[in-house]
Amino acid sequence: MVASNCRIGIIGAGTSGVYLASLLARQGFQVDLFEKAPHPRTDGCGILLVKAGMEALHQGNPQICQKIINAGDPVSLFEFRNLRGGVISSESVTYADNELPGMLIHRKAILEALLEALPQECLHVGAQLESLTQTSTGVEARFRDGSHWSGDLLVGADGIVSKVRESVVTGVELCYLGDLVWRGVTPDTTFCPPGKFIVYARGRGIYANFFHIGGDRTHWGFFIEQDQEEPDAGALIPRNTAIPSEELAKLPEAARAVIESTVPEQIVSRYSYDIDPLPRLHQGRIVLIGDAAHAKSPTRARGMTSGWEDALSLSRHLAANVDIAEALKRFEVERLPIVHEYQRTSREMSRKIGRRQKVVT
Ligand SMILES: Cc1cc2nc3c(=O)[nH]c(=O)nc-3n(C[C@H](O)[C@H](O)[C@H](O)COP(=O)(O)OP(=O)(O)OC[C@H]3O[C@@H](n4cnc5c(N)ncnc54)[C@H](O)[C@@H]3O)c2cc1C
Repeated sequence: MVASNCRIGIIGAGTSGVYLASLLARQGFQVDLFEKAPHPRTDGCGILLVKAGMEALHQGNPQICQKIINAGDPVSLFEFRNLRGGVISSESVTYADNELPGMLIHRKAILEALLEALPQECLHVGAQLESLTQTSTGVEARFRDGSHWSGDLLVGADGIVSKVRESVVTGVELCYLGDLVWRGVTPDTTFCPPGKFIVYARGRGIYANFFHIGGDRTHWGFFIEQDQEEPDAGALIPRNTAIPSEELAKLPEAARAVIESTVPEQIVSRYSYDIDPLPRLHQGRIVLIGDAAHAKSPTRARGMTSGWEDALSLSRHLAANVDIAEALKRFEVERLPIVHEYQRTSREMSRKIGRRQKVVT
């Protein structure tokens, strides 16, 4: 299709939406990226980016990939410990010449690298999608502030609680994965050296991980198994965000000290959910990518990677096909089996390590 004649709207300026918008803008499409927040979220904690995610960035825009390499630490060792601190196993990671590394990095650095590649005029903040309508010739989106957009294709990159998804598949429910997680970032260079990913294996209802994310900062994640009380069912953030001290006390002292040294502003807590595999990724001129299409348990660290793979695939099919319907069909044929496999294996691993799954909405 002639890219400059094609108007594409994207809902959600998370990592999937920003990457897709930058790729499509480079290809010459007319792109509008809508984000409900006053600015794209550059907070958050540490992220493990697997090699496939780095490849998806490198194939679409090598400069973004290089900025991420410069800002984080290549992962060099996974170490699994028991709750007494003893090492159960460790796995070194080595890279061949020219092989892209898996990275340990702050989410802020990732989003900043993605945003630098996005033409600023594409981004519209404070734009919360309220409803969508489509005909055989176009799509119209209406926003909470009364504004509207119309164009040729609408992409839902609006995360796990997706409004766009309702126009593609109805009745999708969130599944609670049985864990409440706290994550934080704190200055530290001794407990967790660069490149090392430490996991305190699940036991006595908890587990935890720690990794250095560049500079003098260490990321930690602390998970407790907890049923949701009724008022919290389906909520992303719990009402009570304090870490129970009796649960934290199950960690060895050195690990606990890293968590206790973190200032409250650098700690976030949330419940973990996934969704069932969707039967399709598009309906007419509306298509889903990222968590909106296949939110999954973080156990395999494939969340960001799969959103970037979607973005790369969709941008390539749109550039290569003369009509949108054909491009979306090819995108779905390529991506659906892959994202279903990610969802299946993430759930399988969740179950193996003892997580319990429960439909909540
Ligand atoms: C505890 C935890 C740990 C994780 N660790 C990792 C990891 O180590 N590695 C990894 O690769 N992945 C990890 N993930 C997964 C990863 O964070 C997600 O898969 C990824 O951020 C999804 O990106 P997204 O852009 O698809 O969605 P989001 O990041 O959710 O972005 C969606 C955007 O859409 C906006 N939006 C929503 N609704 C509307 C609306 N109606 N109108 C306008 N805008 C809207 C939101 O404000 C948001 O900016 C983890 C997830 C969790 C929960």
